[in-house]
Amino acid sequence: MERPTETTASAIIELKAVGKSFRSGSGSARPVLDNVDLTLRAGEIVALLGRSGSGKSTLLRIMAGLIGSDSGQVLYKGLPLYGTARDISMVFQSFALFPWLTVQQNVELGMEARGIPAEERERRATQAIEMIGLSGFEGALPRELSGGMRQRVGIARALVLEPEILLMDEAFSALDVLTGERLRDDILDLWESGQIPTKAMLVVSHNIEEAVMMADRVLIFASDPGCIRYELAVNLPRPRDVESEAVRALVDDIYGQLTAGETRRGGRASDAPPKLRLGDRLPEADVTRMEGLLEILTLEPYLGRADLPHLADATELTDDELLHVSSALSLLGFAQVVGGDILITELGQRYVAGNNTLRQTLFGQQILAHIPLVAYIRHGLEQDPSGDLHENLFLKLLRFTLSEAEAERVLKVAIEWGRYGEVYEYDYTSGVIRLPEEDLLQAEGETAP
Ligand code: ADP
Ligand code: MG
Repeated sequence: MERPTETTASAIIELKAVGKSFRSGSGSARPVLDNVDLTLRAGEIVALLGRSGSGKSTLLRIMAGLIGSDSGQVLYKGLPLYGTARDISMVFQSFALFPWLTVQQNVELGMEARGIPAEERERRATQAIEMIGLSGFEGALPRELSGGMRQRVGIARALVLEPEILLMDEAFSALDVLTGERLRDDILDLWESGQIPTKAMLVVSHNIEEAVMMADRVLIFASDPGCIRYELAVNLPRPRDVESEAVRALVDDIYGQLTAGETRRGGRASDAPPKLRLGDRLPEADVTRMEGLLEILTLEPYLGRADLPHLADATELTDDELLHVSSALSLLGFAQVVGGDILITELGQRYVAGNNTLRQTLFGQQILAHIPLVAYIRHGLEQDPSGDLHENLFLKLLRFTLSEAEAERVLKVAIEWGRYGEVYEYDYTSGVIRLPEEDLLQAEGETAP
């Protein structure tokens, strides 16, 4: 079912073994992309899915020639890409319009930079504005437009350059669901009807359904460092029916892939959660959401097992949020994620049935066993004569493998989880982490089965 991945004559962009590193918070090089092979061929829409921070935007910026790669090759029509490619346009999540320019002026901007004469600029802008459904708003300023209309201006600005390749970086995710869907369908219409000269599109998305509705191929990106882990062909004619069995099955399959362990490269990932290392990222899931999801899982209609896409609808969590919560539950052994379904474990059942004290004890026990950072903090506190340590100590450690902002996010999660599990306490004003006054956890841990 999968298409051949080797180079074909119709390849427009080819990335070969592309690698990229950024500086970590501590100044050492941190690999963000590793050995990425990706070919975009004429006539196809490819969707790229992956967790935030996995390097998708970086990859797009490399493809657009906005930044260089450290290793590997980027070929545009068979030739190395130097600098920005004029036939490649990018649409960003944030609207990035100039607030003091009208819609017409915003759309004309890129053409001006390319030395296209004023008359042609005007003609083409008017046409692009009409095509994207904004006729009558040529003279409006961005602040007079809704979010959806502003994003249409951003798209018109990209389309007016008649790019061969359109790279869309979460172009719909800042919009409300309906607006995003409408805009997506309009772009698909333009594409299907041949009204735009664009030969290929790469769409980065957070939304699994969106990827399945749009793309001919869906690529799943693994993180740390980013690489393509799984590829799935969507051989369905467009427009696609979102409720159809074929679409639902693909959404399910992708959910399964995204939630599966990220450790194995190449073939299908395993269903077991990856074993974490000390400097790894943690899923951003707060305890309340984890508890809530576990409780819902035990209720009708799920009774212990739920289809993740179904659960996303029922809980009104976004795909990304749900993936974080389910990955946290699976890391901690409260649930298992198998092929797009989530199953509560025996331990998860005990958790839900337990009172607050039992819940906290179980939680503390599991994070100590499965989250190396939590165990490391706890161990450090036990070794320290005063029993308290400043958070900066741990931030410094995390900065070896993570960026500044990520180190902070990861420590915040570890602190929140540790506080709830009574593994340690945290003083928000001073930033000091300390052992709990009464070490209940240890005493209970000894008698627990
Ligand atoms: P995604 O788009 O998948 O969310 P990004 O490509 O934006 O991921 O980022 C991947 C990683 O690279 C992140 O850890 C991010 O912090 C880091 N990163 C991105 N741009 C830079 C930069 N200019 N300098 C340092 N780190 C960066
Ligand atoms: Mg991004």
